[in-house]
Amino acid sequence: MPIKQMSLAQIKDFIKPPAPRGIEEVVLHHTWSPTIAQYRGQATWEGIRNYHVNENGWSDIGYHFGVGGESRERLLWKLRPVTKSGAHVLNRNQHTIGVGMIGNFDVEDPTLSVHAAAGLVRLLVDRFKLAAHNIRFHREFENKSCPGIRVSLAAFRELVMGTPQATWPIRGRRSRRWPWCWAARSLTVARSSSTAGWRCYWRH
Ligand SMILES: [Zn+2]
Repeated sequence: MPIKQMSLAQIKDFIKPPAPRGIEEVVLHHTWSPTIAQYRGQATWEGIRNYHVNENGWSDIGYHFGVGGESRERLLWKLRPVTKSGAHVLNRNQHTIGVGMIGNFDVEDPTLSVHAAAGLVRLLVDRFKLAAHNIRFHREFENKSCPGIRVSLAAFRELVMGTPQATWPIRGRRSRRWPWCWAARSLTVARSSSTAGWRCYWRH
């Protein structure tokens, strides 16, 4: 799957289909290296993927989503399909989603990245029906500071849960244009505000 910068609305669409492995937790990380100062956008993500694949021998980049330090407009990245287990936390990848923030938040300022991550995690919490305690930090499971000593777990959970709730349209109608929508019970058709047309939605 190509690494791609996405808006929050695009990520919302991207995570609509069911993730059959069952998502129970979101685990937050920082990259530590590269730092925000070293960040070069897409090239940095490709570099991380090359390292994970060629040095670590993993099938893909370890995280599902990335938060880049570039600017407010170009912060969120989809990296690996949520339908597949990631490779980001020891013995806990099967039912988790990994979110990696570019930066060394032992020393760098995490404010911008943490706020962008909170919007993304709020989407994931709503989509997969998670609670605040399902938002986890890597350091809870391994002996490291990840996602950085400057990031507080309690404050991050509060920030996420204080972010407006993400909603997906669930009221729909049968459509001849989208017969396959009704092949599965979990699907519905609804008017999309973003594309100004009818489209198929996954019920959640
Ligand atoms: Zn980590």
